[in-house]
Amino acid sequence: MRALYWFREDLRLEDNPALTALCAEADEAVFAFVMPQSNRWSRSPERMGEHRARFLAESLVALDKTLREQGNQLMILQGDPDVTIVKAAQVWSCQAVYSQRCHTHEEEVTAAKVADALPHYTFEGATLVHPEDLPFDVEDLPEIFTRFRKKVEKRGLIVRDIHPVPTIPPPPSELPDEGIEVESPARMSGLPKTTMLFDGGAEAGMKRLRHYFWGTRALSTYKKTRNGMMGWDYSSKFSPWLALGCLSPRSVYHAVLEYEDDVESNESTYWLIFELLWRDYFRFIAMQHSDRIWHKTGLKDAPRNPVTHHPLQWKDWCSGNTKSAYVNANMHELRLTGFMSNRGRQNVASYAIHDMGLDWRACAAWFERWLIDFDPCSNTCNWLYVAGIGNDPRPQRKFDVDWQAERYDPDGVFQRHWNRLGEKFPCNPDSVP
Ligand SMILES: Cc1cc2nc3c(=O)[nH]c(=O)nc-3n(C[C@H](O)[C@H](O)[C@H](O)COP(=O)(O)OP(=O)(O)OC[C@H]3O[C@@H](n4cnc5c(N)ncnc54)[C@H](O)[C@@H]3O)c2cc1C
Repeated sequence: MRALYWFREDLRLEDNPALTALCAEADEAVFAFVMPQSNRWSRSPERMGEHRARFLAESLVALDKTLREQGNQLMILQGDPDVTIVKAAQVWSCQAVYSQRCHTHEEEVTAAKVADALPHYTFEGATLVHPEDLPFDVEDLPEIFTRFRKKVEKRGLIVRDIHPVPTIPPPPSELPDEGIEVESPARMSGLPKTTMLFDGGAEAGMKRLRHYFWGTRALSTYKKTRNGMMGWDYSSKFSPWLALGCLSPRSVYHAVLEYEDDVESNESTYWLIFELLWRDYFRFIAMQHSDRIWHKTGLKDAPRNPVTHHPLQWKDWCSGNTKSAYVNANMHELRLTGFMSNRGRQNVASYAIHDMGLDWRACAAWFERWLIDFDPCSNTCNWLYVAGIGNDPRPQRKFDVDWQAERYDPDGVFQRHWNRLGEKFPCNPDSVP
């Protein structure tokens, strides 16, 4: 059988159930990834900023390299994903398409359209806990994270074993070998040498994991340091690789278990798994609520705050020109590096919604554009959470940003660092939509 593998949010060979399934069935395979052009899609040039575009390009080049080591290759196709995949499958006479299941509405609709044209086998692979291993149906997902976590942990967390890298079937002999071409924006020059630079690809993700676990043993102190703001090792920084599926959450989980056997098991080692459960929770919320997560009122019937759009204030927030030096520093870090700490994200989100009265959807779109680790489920559901229209049991989650700055940046080192760089490399006001 000849089959087409459609890489989506799973740019890896290890622990990839859909890929394993294809390799068990197919004698020949075509591997494809689609770069959409229309701004309906998050990976279109309009919606994907330079940091995410570069990380994606590097990840695709790395994936192509690992496929080539096994005698196959990656094809980069342009167009609307459903039409493009069906056309490619027909052109290369593939009898079936395999892919990892995505959990957002538009992606599910696209997958269904492919399934209308030819057999399309989809497999779970994005979450730590397989949806079938939950102690309830996704429709009955608890509304509050703590209840979800307690139920999932009650009978012992069920995490399936890792799928080893499969043997990749050869390509059809008529498939041209043109090498892949992906546009990769150059890295910004002029930033200090200490600036975090993320390299895309599965091997780079594993390298980061080895560094964070066995290289520095920073995992042992994660719970104490995770609210940090400066430097590489206050938190894992796994999110960009997890978002594109270069790393699977199960690989991280099994590495934590290994670390607990080899080095130590403590609150911090558990806490990383706890955070991966947050990630799962937001995926399951997206599965449960489908496109409702993008509604102005989120999962509620009415907004908590009156939502208005203030064009000038909006520009100030995006470009890091608000009255809060702490918010500004975070916004500069985001625009200049593609990353912002979790503490920073919570603060700038709260400030945008509760202090400036901005529309959370516009702010979430700004994050989508700039975050290297943009993930539609984590991003949207975290915004809903801060806006009080998601899964937060508290009616209001307003941060006092001055108090937060005092607590998490007591000497102002973070603020001075990024506000100075923000002045040196200001945001072009025309780039703010
Ligand atoms: C407004 C807002 C928007 C966000 N947008 C995104 C996004 O687009 N993509 C994204 O991956 N995360 C998002 N987050 C969650 C969180 O800020 C990042 O996952 C985290 O900062 C990434 O850094 P890390 O890998 O060092 O995290 P660590 O602290 O090391 O955590 C380990 C992993 O756990 C997961 N995780 C941790 N916290 C959360 C959380 N609150 N929600 C979901 N997963 C979590 C991530 O996969 C992370 O890589 C957002 C948070 C907020 C408040």
